[in-house]
Amino acid sequence: MYLNGDFVAEDAAHVSIFDRGLLFADAVYEVFSVLAGRIIDHAAHMARLERSLAEMTIAHDAAATDWAGVLATLIARNDLTEGTIYLQVSRGAADRDFLFPAPGTPPTVFAFTQARALVDNPMAQRGMRILTRPDRRWGRRDIKTVQLLYASMMKMEARAAGVDDVWLVEGDVITEGTSQNACIITRNGHLVTRDLGHHILPGVTRLSLIDIARQSGITVEERPFTIAEAQGAAEAFVTSASLFVMPVVEIDGLSIGDGRPGMETMALRKAYIDHARGTG
Ligand code: PLP
Repeated sequence: MYLNGDFVAEDAAHVSIFDRGLLFADAVYEVFSVLAGRIIDHAAHMARLERSLAEMTIAHDAAATDWAGVLATLIARNDLTEGTIYLQVSRGAADRDFLFPAPGTPPTVFAFTQARALVDNPMAQRGMRILTRPDRRWGRRDIKTVQLLYASMMKMEARAAGVDDVWLVEGDVITEGTSQNACIITRNGHLVTRDLGHHILPGVTRLSLIDIARQSGITVEERPFTIAEAQGAAEAFVTSASLFVMPVVEIDGLSIGDGRPGMETMALRKAYIDHARGTG
C-alpha cells in the first residue's frame, strides 16, 4: 500500500483515529481500473481528483505528487494485471472540531490495489436488475467524497430484495446509480444520460463512453429522464470504472426491451473495453 509517501505492507498501514476522514467523512477518493497492467483514463481521474480537492479545499497538491509513479509502483509490487486502485486523500488528523484545522495540517494520503476480473464479469451476460429509491444523498454529489453511507444502505436494500443495485430518483427523475451513472438507449437509438451538475458524479467512464458513442455516430442527449422513460426504453445500462458498460435488464420489476442485455449496449461495452486496452 502507499501511505503518506511510503510503500508499506497492509498490516503496517495505520492512520490516526482523529483523522477527519474517519470523524467527518472529510476526504475525497478515486477508483482507477487497471487492465493488462495499464490504468484506464488515468488523466481524467487525476483531473477529477484535483477538482474534488479544490472544491473541498483539501491542501494536497496532486499535481506536485508523482501519482503516475506511485500507481505504477503499486501495480508492479502487487502484480496487478486486472483490477482497481483506490486512492484517498483526507484533510488529515486534528483535534475533533467541526471547523477545519489550521492550514499546514498534512492531508492523509493512501492508495491500495484490489485484483478482480473486470472484462469477464458474469453480470455482463445476464444484465443487472435494478430498483429505484429516493435520492437522499447530500446536494454536492459532483464531489467524489467518501460520504457513501446512503449508497451503501441502498445496495444492501437491493441485495435484500434479491436484485443487483439501486437507481436513485428525485421525484420520478433518475439521478444515477448508487455507484454508477445511469444511461438508456431510446427506441430511436439515442443514448440518453443525465446532464452534469451538483446532482450527479461526473463519471469518467460516462465521459469516455459519450466520446466513443459520438465517434460511432450515436446521438447523445445529456438530459433528465424518468423511471417510466427508462422502463420503456429499448435498452438501459450503467457506466463506472469497475463495471465499464454494464447492461440493465429490469427496473422495478419491469423488463427492459426483451429482458436481455441490449445489442447496442454490448457493442458499446466492447468498444469501451477496446478503448481501455488502448486498441480502440
Ligand atoms: N456515480 C457515482 C455516485 C459513483 O460513485 C461512481 C463511481 O464510483 C460513478 C457514478 C461512476 O464514475 P466513474 O465512471 O468515474 O467510476
